Amino acid sequence: MLGEDLEALTRDAVLTRGLGRAYGDAAMPPRPGAIVAGSRFADRVLALDEDRGILRAEAGASLARLSTLLLTRRLAVPVVPGTGFVTLGGMIAADVHGKNQHVAGTIGDHVLALRLRLADGQIVEVRPPEHETLLRATLGGMGLTGHILEVELRLDRIPSPWILEERETYGDLDGLLAALLRDSAAWPFTVSWTDALASGRSLGRGVVMRGRWARPDEAPAHDPPQGLQVAFPFDLPSWALQPLSGHAFNHLYRAAARVGARRRLAAPFAFFHPLDAIGAWNRAYGRRGFTQYQCVVPREVGTGPVAHVFEELQRRRVPCYLAVIKDFGRHGTGLLSFPRPGITVTLDLPLAGDETQQAVDALNQIVIAAGGRVYLAKDLLTRPEHFRSLEPRFDAFQAARRDLDPERRIHSALSVRLFGDDA
Ligand SMILES: Cc1cc2nc3c(=O)[nH]c(=O)nc-3n(C[C@H](O)[C@H](O)[C@H](O)COP(=O)(O)OP(=O)(O)OC[C@H]3O[C@@H](n4cnc5c(N)ncnc54)[C@H](O)[C@@H]3O)c2cc1C
Repeated sequence: MLGEDLEALTRDAVLTRGLGRAYGDAAMPPRPGAIVAGSRFADRVLALDEDRGILRAEAGASLARLSTLLLTRRLAVPVVPGTGFVTLGGMIAADVHGKNQHVAGTIGDHVLALRLRLADGQIVEVRPPEHETLLRATLGGMGLTGHILEVELRLDRIPSPWILEERETYGDLDGLLAALLRDSAAWPFTVSWTDALASGRSLGRGVVMRGRWARPDEAPAHDPPQGLQVAFPFDLPSWALQPLSGHAFNHLYRAAARVGARRRLAAPFAFFHPLDAIGAWNRAYGRRGFTQYQCVVPREVGTGPVAHVFEELQRRRVPCYLAVIKDFGRHGTGLLSFPRPGITVTLDLPLAGDETQQAVDALNQIVIAAGGRVYLAKDLLTRPEHFRSLEPRFDAFQAARRDLDPERRIHSALSVRLFGDDA
């Protein structure tokens, strides 16, 4: 159900959905016909205190629209994911991270208050320290603790609306990871893009991107363009995505990084949300579509498991065309927040039936052995028994949920698959 009045929409809903950018089943109904509230039209900005840098908005407000509004005022949402087409509610429910996770943590670290409809219908203003546990369960709780109606956030003040960006290529995984960690000690935004198809001594080669907000004396006087979209016009036939073209694509990217300006000024939309410039980019994966898989392995186990992840994909001939590696600096504060200190790897996996399931099973075994986690906002195929091994925090989350919602009125396809809820 869609509409502008989220308070009314959530009265009988079993779940709230934002812009549907979660890759798996987190925003999907637990069964056909279950009522899911769609928040996207409940998108009003309710208050903006420019002096104190505080924003209050309805949960359906999109990051892209908020960023447009804020950048001209030299303010920014302090943590942004790789797409601007997400809602505030969806960002909180997944406790999203961005390129600055190593210094800024997750979006939950910047939340001042939430207005939340609980499973019993009650509406509460969650404002710590009073509702600390409820807030912690809601951050990263994938919408299972209540319907977020409004969000109050602390914003960042920025020196200019431009990003100063540098890129550097590395020939192997060790070089790439070392550079990523080195750059993260000095730069607020870092990420790397890796050629997941490269093997042998080139395994893990890729590009490290680092950035910071440009100072006024470095930035042009005019404001940068706001996300211009070129739509992907049709579903590519699957032959177009055979390993060869994926390889060519990876090469192209590396070449661009080498010959392009090593240092450049970038519009924030291009820097933070590169895929948003190509509307419906997911169609590039053809009719069968794709999923994403994101894991984090603890820093103390070293880089071995990251290499194993790529080797396992190659052994299984999984044509992964996009792999992103990023270092995480600290734990998210939510009971089920994904980030923890370590290295996170994000992989696009074209869907190919049982082969993809088996690949995810194998990746999960590597992550379990390393003591890592998987990201629920990206998950479609993790098995419940693997999830239990991956998540020692699961019981604490379920206990909080039992107190809030003993009948489990709020549930989703994900909670049926992984948390043992009835559909
Ligand atoms: C191209 C791309 C890049 C991405 N990059 C990143 C990244 O860098 N970092 C990162 O952390 N994530 C990333 N993501 C994942 C994305 O940020 C999350 O899945 C986010 O939750 C999506 O927000 P949404 O509004 O689309 O929510 P949906 O996908 O609609 O919902 C996601 C979850 O939030 C819950 N939810 C949504 N709105 C509410 C509400 N009002 N109240 C309660 N629960 C609610 C839903 O029930 C569901 O469990 C990326 C996704 C894409 C497609």
